Parts: sequence; C-alpha cells; structure tokens
Amino acid sequence: MLLLIGFALFCGADNALGVEKTLWNSLEGDTTQVHQFLEEGKQAYNSGDFERAGRLILRADSLSEVLGYMEGRARATAYKADMYIDQDKLDEAIELLENAIKLYPESEQRAQYLNLLGTSFNNFSDPSKAIQYYTEALNFTDRLRKKERDRLHAAILHNLAVIYQNLGEEKLAFENFLSAITYAEQAKDTSMLAIAYNNIGLAYNNSGDYEKSIYYLNRSLSLAETLDSKLDIYRAHLNLANTLSNMERFQEALHNYEIAESIYKQLRPDSPPAIILHNRGSTLAKMKRYAEAETLLNESLKMCEDLDIREGMYYNHNILGQVLLEQGRNEEAIFHLNQAILLAKESGNAQLIQSSRQALYKSYAAANKYKEAFSVLNTYKAFSDSLTNLEKEKELATIENKLELNRQSEINRSLEIRQAQQEKQLQYQLILIVAGALVILLVVVFLFMMRKSAREKEEILKQVRTQKEELEQLNRSKDKLFAIIAHDLRSPMSSMQGVLHLIKDHVLSQKDMSKLIQELEVSVQQNVDVMEDLLAWAKEQLSGVKMEKIPVNVQSVVGEVISSQSFLAAKKGISVSIEVPESKEVLADPNALQLVIRNLISNSIKYTKEGDEIKVSLSDLSSRTRLIIKDTGIGIPEEAADKIFESRSWTREGTQREKGSGFGLSLSKEFVERMNGKIWFESEVGKGSTFYVELPKA
Ligand code: ADP
Repeated sequence: MLLLIGFALFCGADNALGVEKTLWNSLEGDTTQVHQFLEEGKQAYNSGDFERAGRLILRADSLSEVLGYMEGRARATAYKADMYIDQDKLDEAIELLENAIKLYPESEQRAQYLNLLGTSFNNFSDPSKAIQYYTEALNFTDRLRKKERDRLHAAILHNLAVIYQNLGEEKLAFENFLSAITYAEQAKDTSMLAIAYNNIGLAYNNSGDYEKSIYYLNRSLSLAETLDSKLDIYRAHLNLANTLSNMERFQEALHNYEIAESIYKQLRPDSPPAIILHNRGSTLAKMKRYAEAETLLNESLKMCEDLDIREGMYYNHNILGQVLLEQGRNEEAIFHLNQAILLAKESGNAQLIQSSRQALYKSYAAANKYKEAFSVLNTYKAFSDSLTNLEKEKELATIENKLELNRQSEINRSLEIRQAQQEKQLQYQLILIVAGALVILLVVVFLFMMRKSAREKEEILKQVRTQKEELEQLNRSKDKLFAIIAHDLRSPMSSMQGVLHLIKDHVLSQKDMSKLIQELEVSVQQNVDVMEDLLAWAKEQLSGVKMEKIPVNVQSVVGEVISSQSFLAAKKGISVSIEVPESKEVLADPNALQLVIRNLISNSIKYTKEGDEIKVSLSDLSSRTRLIIKDTGIGIPEEAADKIFESRSWTREGTQREKGSGFGLSLSKEFVERMNGKIWFESEVGKGSTFYVELPKA
C-alpha cells in the first residue's frame, strides 16, 4: 500500500496579488502602501512569522479604511481568510468570508471569497458544500482582469477536480482537471500548471491509467525544473516513483524515490521522510527484497511514532506484518498486524481493518494457532459480508443516484420536449392569430371598399337621377318654350305679315293704313313684352342662372316700366298715377323686378276700360317694402283666384281684345319668391284689382 500525496491547490493569496500591479498605477500613492503591507504580510507568513503577517494585514486593512479604499480592505480580508484556512481555523475563516461577501458584495474578491469558502468546507469534509461554493465562485471570476481571471478559474476548477477525484467521480474529476489546465495554460501560470499536471498525473495513477500518469508527471517535472521549484520537483519524483512502482518498473521507481528523498532532505531538513521511506519499503517488499524492506518500514514506523502520525503507523505495521508473514516470522507478523488493526479501528476505516485482518488470520494459521485464526476469519467474514453489504448499499446508493440523475435528466428532457411542443403550439397559435387577424382585416377592408363603392354608386345614381330630372325639366321647358312661341308669337306675327302684304300691294287707303299701323304698334309692343317674358323665363329655366340680390331703387324701375307702357294706357284713355318715394330701395334682381312690375302694370292696362285709373304706390313696413298696383278694372272672378298664378291655367282677353298668354303672373310669382318676396292680390269683379309685391328692404 502506497501513501500518496494528494493536495488541493488553494492559491488564494497569490491570485489576489496578481491584480495589484495594474491597480497600483491607477490609484493614489497611498494605496501602494496597502499592497506593500499585504505583500510583506504574505512573505512573513511564508517564513512562518504568523504574528508579523497578522499585524501587516491588519495595517493594510486600517490604512485602506482611512483611505476609503474598499478593494484594499476586501483584499486584506481575503489574505486573512487564506491564513485562517492554512492554520486550520476553519470556523473563523468561514465567518470572515461570509461577512466579507455581505460587506463587499461588488468586490472583485468575491470569486476568491467563494473559492476560499469552498476550500474551508472541503477541509471540513463537506465536499457537497465545497462543490456548491466553488461552482458559485466560477460565476464571479469575470470581475477580474483576464490573467487573474484565468488563474483563479484554473484554481477553482482544479479544486473541484480534486474533490470529484476524492468522491470517486473520475469523469468529472478529469473534465475539471483538463479545463483547469486549459485556463492555467491561458494564464501562462507555469507554477500552477506544474501543480495541475502533478495532480492529474496522480489521478491517472489512481484510476490505473499509468501511461497517462507518467506523461503528466513528466510534464509537471519539466515545468517544475524550469521554475526551479524544489517542492514541485520533489512531488513529481515521488509521484513518478509511486506510478512506476504500480507498473512494477521497480528499478526506475527506486531511482525516483532516491531523488525525491534527497530533495526532501534539502527542503525539510528537520522533518523526517517517513512517507518516502514507507513507499520505498513497500516497493522493495513487492520486489521480495524483504530485509531491505523491513529496515525501511521500521525506520518509517519509528518516524511516524515519534511524530504520532497514526495513519503512517498503521501503514507501516500493516506492510511489516505482511513482509514478516512472507518470511514465516509469524509471531512478529501477528504482533504488527494486531497493532495495525488497533490503529485502523481508531480511524474507523473498515477497509484497512479488513486488509490487516486477512493477513492476521493467515499469520495465525501459519503459526498453527487455528483457534485464533478461526476467530479472526469469522470476524473477517462477518465484516466482509457487512462490508460487502455496505459496499452494496453504497453501490446501490450510487446506482440510485445515477438513476435519480437519469430520472432528472429524463424529466428535464421531457420538460424540454414539452416546452418545445408548447413553444411550437404557441408559435402555431400565433400564426393562426396573425392569419386570423389578416383575414379579418381583409374582410373589413373588403367590406369597407364594398360600402364605399356602393355609396359611390348610390351617389352617382343620385347624380344621374338629378341630372335626368334636370334634363327632363329642361326638355319640358324647351317644349313649353316652343309651344309658347308657336302659340303666342306665331299668330300676331302672321297677322302682322298679312298687314304688310296689304301695305305692299297698296290695297289700303291712307286712312286705313295709319289706323292699322297704330294697331300694329300696340300688337308689336305686346309681342315685345311677351318675348321679354319668354326670354327671361327661358334664360332662367335653361341656364339655371342664380338670381342676384342687390339694392334696387324702386322708383326708377317703376318709372322705366311706365314710360314703356304709357302709350298703351294713353291709347285706352286710362290714367296712371305713381306715388313712389324717390329713395326707396329693395334687395332684388333688377331685371326680375322690372319683369314683375311690367307684368302687373301691363295686366292692369289690359284689364281696365276707358276712364279707369291705375295707381302705383309704396307702403313702408319694418323690414320690408310693399309695392301696391291698384286698378279700377274688370276684376278677377273668385273661381279664378287660385289659378291666375299657375302657368297658363287661366287666361282672358283684355278689354280691347288684347291677347293674353296666361304666363306672366306665374313667372312673376316665381321670381318674387326667389327674391325672398311675396306676391298676392285682392279683387272684386267690376270694381277692380289690387296686386301686392312685398320684398326685403335693401
Ligand atoms: P295674361 O294676362 O297674359 O292672360 P297673366 O298671367 O298675366 O296672363 O294673367 C292671368 C289672368 O289673370 C289674366 O288672363 C286675367 O284674366 C287675370 N288678370 C290679371 N291681372 C288682372 C287685372 N289687373 N284685372 C283683371 N284680371 C286680371
């Protein structure tokens, strides 16, 4: 059995120091002092002057406090914790580190604190908590600059690897060792690499992969030699020797043990090389060089007894027992093996106890002490069963763990699948929603367009209908116009034509001719009036001209009309009087107003006899002006009262057989109303008629 050196790498203080240089340049001179104290503290610690180290760290901390230099305080705390761990003051270290995390949550030292917490718990034999802290530490290394980050990362991964290795989780151990090496290589940290190579070499030795073990141990050795690190050179040789011994390359093993021993003596002149002697003895025992083996093992045993190294004592007693048994020195073997069992019982290591029991029962048997042999064998068997059971249980637990892991990953996988399905479903739903929304949008747009086009169609239809009505109206107007022209203008024109023939043929006497010409003048005047009416009406109807409303002087319009009609009145012996004040103005269209007044006055002349009177007057109302045209003519019968304002519905000849068109009043009414006015009449048959026109004042 070989005693192997397995050490974890806890290089906290070194890492903390690694950050200094860059920090110093950017801070005030005084912070340099903080770092100097820390550096000196570290040196003092390494040289064993713990008190001075403690003082220096305390000074660094107080100076940082005075300067308000938080990182300095955080760093001093890390140093302090590291020293506590080194002195196995784990409770103090843990308390200090947990407080530091609370005090300096943002510090770049946080990863280091967690790393040191991991180490503390690992030293407390609480690997699961250690793993937890180391893993958490990895999350905070990014606060450090690249080189420091890589170094600390490497250190943490390495520490994890060592724990996994101790837990028998070889795969995880190797994974972590290898990535630790990658980080250490990135950081170009050769001293860390030397340690890492050494430890992975050790791990390969434990897992029986001796070739790889040799490969890494050699790399560690050459790095250590480059660095001239005696401690690392010693470790590499010792571990190389162990691996070579396991490979039964005994000569090479012995050679390496020798080198290891000579370096060890330089390194620790006051500390006896108990482990090396034991391992050498064991190797010699395997080579059946029992005498030499016995000497070395006894030497080692003595050293261990002097230093009270119980584990070392066990191993030496145990191997000595076996070596003596091989030589048939049964009584001595029995002694050593019993000692070994006692020591193993102290440590509670069942496997060690059993290993010694097996050799002890053989020794008893060889010494012919069958009773004792039988008793030891029985205990051995009983324990072996319970050990197997224990192992079985352990195995079962491992299997259960693995099953649990599998189950977890199965659950995770099914969760992932479910999540993926849900995501797919969500995506599908989203697509559906989007598609649905698009369809709805399209439908809405379509409906909107439909409605719009329907409305447009309706609008167009309405326009078409109005236009049609207007056209029909125009057509009716045109027909009416033609009818009127045909009826009203044709007959007077043809009678005028007849008169002209008579004049041309000299058929008429001078007296008849002058009489005819006088009549013709009246007829022409009437035709002119009708024509004017027709033209005004036709213009109104066909062009749709809007009536303008401007201030119009009533007196001047009445004057103009009377002057054009006076000779008709004079011819019939009718007197016309005007009582219209000069300045009265109404809001009207001048032409339309003239037409209305002309129609009313010409009607009065038409339907009055000789000696009758026509009076045109004005009545002033508050907002309107009323024009009154009163005659003492034939009057209007009651049955005609409703008809005279309707176009061509009722017409009579005048008192001297003047032609009527039945058209003037309806046109007048239309024009008056369009000028926002009113027209009406009062009449009594045989006594006369009065027509009123009321218009807004100007
Ligand atoms: P017209 O005089 O050409 O027949 P109007 O529309 O001007 O057409 O008049 C319609 C009818 O009203 C006339 O035919 C006539 O019988 C009657 N009328 C209008 N004014 C008078 C009036 N002052 N006195 C008697 N009858 C009138």
